[in-house]
Amino acid sequence: MTMLAPDARPRWKSFLEETMADEVQRIVSGQADKMELSFHQIQTFDPDFADMLLDQPTHILREGSAALKTYCIEMGAQDIEPFIRIDLLPLDSRRDLRRIGHVDVQKLISSEVSVTKVSEIKPRIHRSVFQCSCDYETEIIQHDHTELEEPLQCEGCGERKGRVKFTLMKEKCSLVDNQKIEIQEIPERVPSGAQPSTGMVILEGDLVNSVLPGTRIIANMIPQMHSERKGSRKTPLFEIFYSMVSVEAETTPFTEIIIDDEEEEKIKKLVKEYGNSNDLINLLVDSIAPSIFPTPVLRWVKRSLALQLFGGVARVSSDGTRSRGDIHILLMGDPGVAKSQLLTYMSNLSPRGKFTSGGSVSAAGLTAAAVKDGFSDGRFALEAGVLPLSDRGLAAIDEFDKISKQDTSAIHPAMEQQKIRVAKGGITATLNSRCAVLAAANPESGRFDPLSANASIMQSFKETGLETPLASRFDLIWLLQDTPEPGLDEKIARHILQNRTSGVSELQIEDKMGSEPIPDSEEIMDIGHDQKQHLTTNFLRKYVAYAKRNIHPSLDDEAKNLLVKYYIKTRNSFNRNQNNPRGSDYGISQSDKSEITEVPVTARALEALMRLTEAHARIHLRQTATVVDAEVAKAIFMHWRDEANIRDEAEFQTGMSKQKQSSLVRIIMQEISDANEGRMKMSQIIDAALIKGISDSTVRSVISRLSTTGAIYEPQTGTYEWA
Ligand code: ADP
Ligand code: MG
Repeated sequence: MTMLAPDARPRWKSFLEETMADEVQRIVSGQADKMELSFHQIQTFDPDFADMLLDQPTHILREGSAALKTYCIEMGAQDIEPFIRIDLLPLDSRRDLRRIGHVDVQKLISSEVSVTKVSEIKPRIHRSVFQCSCDYETEIIQHDHTELEEPLQCEGCGERKGRVKFTLMKEKCSLVDNQKIEIQEIPERVPSGAQPSTGMVILEGDLVNSVLPGTRIIANMIPQMHSERKGSRKTPLFEIFYSMVSVEAETTPFTEIIIDDEEEEKIKKLVKEYGNSNDLINLLVDSIAPSIFPTPVLRWVKRSLALQLFGGVARVSSDGTRSRGDIHILLMGDPGVAKSQLLTYMSNLSPRGKFTSGGSVSAAGLTAAAVKDGFSDGRFALEAGVLPLSDRGLAAIDEFDKISKQDTSAIHPAMEQQKIRVAKGGITATLNSRCAVLAAANPESGRFDPLSANASIMQSFKETGLETPLASRFDLIWLLQDTPEPGLDEKIARHILQNRTSGVSELQIEDKMGSEPIPDSEEIMDIGHDQKQHLTTNFLRKYVAYAKRNIHPSLDDEAKNLLVKYYIKTRNSFNRNQNNPRGSDYGISQSDKSEITEVPVTARALEALMRLTEAHARIHLRQTATVVDAEVAKAIFMHWRDEANIRDEAEFQTGMSKQKQSSLVRIIMQEISDANEGRMKMSQIIDAALIKGISDSTVRSVISRLSTTGAIYEPQTGTYEWA
């Protein structure tokens, strides 16, 4: 045992008197009940003493509270128990939970963690008063929370414990609130493949109820030991638990992602270089899961995922209502169409991404649960589910159709208001779930039925077994069907084979890296085996974090007008088509209909369009979203409605008849062939048409018509020339 610093109290006394007189005065006058200090304040006053604090925190802090109390009493205060909280510890006190061992016990350390579970409050005796058989009363400060400490000897009659009986005078004791929480390493610090370490922390006094499950904090704490028991016998092994000294809440999002000036320049340069056209979106599309071959639908899906990564802006209006900025996307699809792969990829790519499978989530499920005996001491505890734990990030939820009953009802507010209210087992709390949801669902029967001629995507949605109202919580719903298409199938097959052969054997990677996280790469671009450039995951993540932190676009008038016009037009055209079976079609029965949108475009859809527009502006680092952003958002939105068959006539989508659309496609083709010596790439035509609000499938049908009539031919796959 090291000697405890004997001069702690006089050092505190001079520190308090010389630098903290005003704060002490505030405590004396009852304006404050504690003193909050930063480590730096002590260090500037007395560097030696600051080192002692890191080395013997329990002793030094105890002496500090005692010195403060004495000082306050000298200044005229009565009956107070002031205490000291210290935060902003130096970086060399930072530890990863998994590395905390015996050398750290009884030291002051800090760790960046997320809170997973919070218990009920129990009162604990702080200052105890014992009465001896001789009636003399002895006061003992209780420091340990596992065992009640009794006097060893009566100070009155001088008899030892055992020869006299001590009685605890409950009414004379002073109590303090006590709470247990469970913390977990943040995923970014966990080596790949490893389970995050957890720890149990005790919070007392003013720290009680200062954290909610799902939040990220910097915990300043003292590791303590508690001997493990085997039956009633103590063993020489110890468990580590922690006493919380202070909590620092996160102020800026994504503190774990550090972006230096040079990287900021690189991001801006990239956006400038690519920013003037569709190129930036295409680069992002190529960078999202390059190993997954983008079939035409998947290309649209990836476009929407790019927007989801960046997200719209969450806003609070003057009356306090909040509208979310996160974009929720649902992928419904047959087995084997790479849904799970896409989700895994996105959860790795997105800052604070989490992957989970609806079938196999913990007791807390997607939302939250109050569990009895959460810390095996009989107390109820509130445990955060996946959504609160993904707060400010992205939750990729596979097998969404298998979510539990308990979650089904909680998920609506969790996705829309992004709050989860829990009132169970004596615990009431509201947790934040401000994350984007990317969900995947399979049909109950194993495969989706082909959409019947008049049916919309709601037919398929029902096949997943999910409740229909849930559909309206998603901004976009894609249907991925596994239908054989000879040309495309060959491309996918080649892509998969190429990908497998160009990958590095996992064993070789593990040999080189051990179990450490893969070191940050400095590179911006990587080249896929298809020879296409794409952004590295590391750089893309920084780009996303930078944009989310700094760019909060609002729509300009022109962009707003465009969306409003689209909205009004679609609603009107719906009303006109009320009597037309196609017009009122959702593929659902009359009774279901009242639960979901009665009209093709609802106010919810308008919000979705705004979010997509804001996200597109954010990608381009624009603080103002213009009509260019709105056009792309509208195109993506229309495309899913088109694929989804939620539409009326062609006019309903674009304000253009089919005829007008095909003549516009021809004009676009002519422009492209003029600029490229007669050659037209399918991808170029699609991209150019997108800007004009013409969907992919329209372009394809025009091209296939032109091919069958012999107006164009295809000298090379995907490239056309006029005949
Ligand atoms: P799902 O979750 O939709 O059932 P998975 O994500 O498990 O499907 O994918 C099944 C396999 O098929 C994966 O190995 C995936 O890489 C492959 N695969 C399916 N479609 C594609 C594609 N378009 N490009 C590359 N690989 C694909
Ligand atoms: Mg799957």
